[in-house]
Amino acid sequence: MITAIRDAWIVTQDAQRRIVRGDLVIDGERIVSVGPRYNGTADREIDASGDIVMPGMVNTHTHVAMSVMKGVVDDLSFPDFLDKVFKIDSDRTDKDLATGTKLGCMEMMLGGTTTFMDLYYSEDVIAKATQEAGIRGVLCWCVLDQDKTTQVGNPLQNCKSFHSRFKDERKIVPGVGLQGVYVCDEETCVGAKEFSDESGAPMNFHLSETRGEVNDHKKKTGKRPGEWLADIGVLGPRGVAAHSAWLTLREVRAMGEAGMSISSCPVSNMKLATGGVAPVPEFLQHGVNVSIGTDGSTTNNSLDMFAEMKTLGLLQKSSRWDPTVADAQQLLDFATINGAKAVGMQDLIGSLEPGKYADVVILDGKAPNLRPLLPENMIANIVYSGSSYNVKTVLCQGDMVVEGRSIATLDADSVLSEAEDAWRSLCIR
Ligand SMILES: [Zn+2]
Repeated sequence: MITAIRDAWIVTQDAQRRIVRGDLVIDGERIVSVGPRYNGTADREIDASGDIVMPGMVNTHTHVAMSVMKGVVDDLSFPDFLDKVFKIDSDRTDKDLATGTKLGCMEMMLGGTTTFMDLYYSEDVIAKATQEAGIRGVLCWCVLDQDKTTQVGNPLQNCKSFHSRFKDERKIVPGVGLQGVYVCDEETCVGAKEFSDESGAPMNFHLSETRGEVNDHKKKTGKRPGEWLADIGVLGPRGVAAHSAWLTLREVRAMGEAGMSISSCPVSNMKLATGGVAPVPEFLQHGVNVSIGTDGSTTNNSLDMFAEMKTLGLLQKSSRWDPTVADAQQLLDFATINGAKAVGMQDLIGSLEPGKYADVVILDGKAPNLRPLLPENMIANIVYSGSSYNVKTVLCQGDMVVEGRSIATLDADSVLSEAEDAWRSLCIR
């Protein structure tokens, strides 16, 4: 099937970061042409005259199933927050997880996100719900010490079995998760890394989110978490370290040498008042790939990558007293091509180029908040003025998942009412 998106401003995010005016043509799952006028016949014509066409964004740290837990644990101290979340979480059923996943996917789709990296248990349930929604899940089964989990069986074995069951599923990339050094001993961490090496699976873990976590680990091992993980060989090019807020320059260098990615989660860090700010300029200087994550809906409380891009820029500038830090083009890179690299898919997604999957977002070029709109201010307008409300149409791997600001894949009304049922049963007690 040929899809022709006509007469748009195409923000390619290719190596030259070109913006071109013209047509974008898709054959099945993949992009075949970017820019030149397409004179052939198309099975599906999309008039995008004057609209912005950009790559689908990549959210590199979520707990998507928690989307039904919004507004339950706000404005609490970090220990009280964790205590309450763990209590609610332990009562959840597979149906609650599926509903949360669908609700989260709907929010992401309507916000221009086509790929998300998730860290959770029961990723098999999450995978099925994500497939129904129609976007791409890089789903990292959470591994932690067996005596510290409610998972039935051994978490690493559960992760391996999930991987073997879902590795050939369309739009699902099974990965390895690690909860964090506070519940993962050396054997657990090394076991997870070895499996990632054997299978080539991406790996997502929490790193140095709070100062307390760093201090506790130093007391226990004599080393900071980043140094300790480097020394036991857990850092590597498939690793994506979420938060990465309390790090020394030595740890940043080790992460750069290992070819690591980080997922900065500025809204979550600020909302929980954990104090640390991810050292983004130093990451860039030392070759760490910087991407953006929203974290889960209990700490953000949204999965909005437009908001996250802008907030990341503001936090970096404000904390450094330097408005030149994290410029608009870099912020858009973090949310697109760098996110693709973080999940190991830079040859397939993250930019609009022939041969890549058609993960395409169309923004309304007539929206006042995006005008005046010229190639010269387009990137700044997307990052600093843009909003999820500008998203009109979204395709993921050639499939239309949002059309005319409506979800094209799921029965949205029933997901919304199921979400309220889940909230009532889990959160009112
Ligand atoms: Zn997290």
